[in-house]
Amino acid sequence: MGPAHARLPYGHRPLDRPRGAVRHSHTEHHWSPQLNAAPADQIRLLDVQDLDTRLSQLAHKRRSLPEHEEIQTLEADLSQLRDLLVAAQTEESDTAREQTKAEQDVDQVRQRAARDQQRLDSGMVTNPKDLESLQSEIASLAKRQSDLEDVVLEVMERRESAQERAAELTERVESVQQRTAEAEGRRDLALESIDHEVRMATKEREVVAGALPADLLKLYEKIREQQGGVGAAKLFQRRCEGCRLELNITEVNDVREAAEDAVLRCENCRRILVRTPESGL
Ligand SMILES: [Zn+2]
Repeated sequence: MGPAHARLPYGHRPLDRPRGAVRHSHTEHHWSPQLNAAPADQIRLLDVQDLDTRLSQLAHKRRSLPEHEEIQTLEADLSQLRDLLVAAQTEESDTAREQTKAEQDVDQVRQRAARDQQRLDSGMVTNPKDLESLQSEIASLAKRQSDLEDVVLEVMERRESAQERAAELTERVESVQQRTAEAEGRRDLALESIDHEVRMATKEREVVAGALPADLLKLYEKIREQQGGVGAAKLFQRRCEGCRLELNITEVNDVREAAEDAVLRCENCRRILVRTPESGL
């Protein structure tokens, strides 16, 4: 018997080989084939994707109804018109007060002139100087009364125009309120119809997704969140329908070699790539 080291033991390999340096296959798959799912389930996943896309579109449609903007514009108009109406109504009541005051001024002057005229007509004032003074006061009161009456007229004109403005603005406020109500009615009808579609699609999605394996659905949801709402895409004529890129020949060969129930991923967009009879393989 020779020394033990004279014969190399079976399975010998150099001890200095670093751990983890196992050579990777050069045909390493670009997807993560660790997940398997029956081809029929993969096809059903596309149905879930279609329903999710439909739900996203409905949510977008709901947010961007033209009525939203229309109502916002009408409400801005309404608020502006209401401010103008309050200003016109304030001016109306201010000028009403001003008119009352101006009319009282006219009355005072008129009463004083009437008293003076009475004294003059009574014949009790005989002194020529007093007579002259009285006549002069009557004349000046007449002038004053005429001036004050002009003020009343001017105030009345301003009051009338404030009244007209308030009436016109009241009409416009009512018209805008009516248009707002109409737009809100249209918006509510549209929302009702969208919400009905959302309920139907949600129910259908629950049924279809409920029949899928949990791990496949979980992976799909995760990718969908990262990839703008699309987690699974059809492989259609060698093209990923998620990112629209055509698979190169290596990738096509990898897909051909992959097991039927392997869950494939697009190398470009990482979405679940579902094979169908139209995949062009
Ligand atoms: Zn892709």
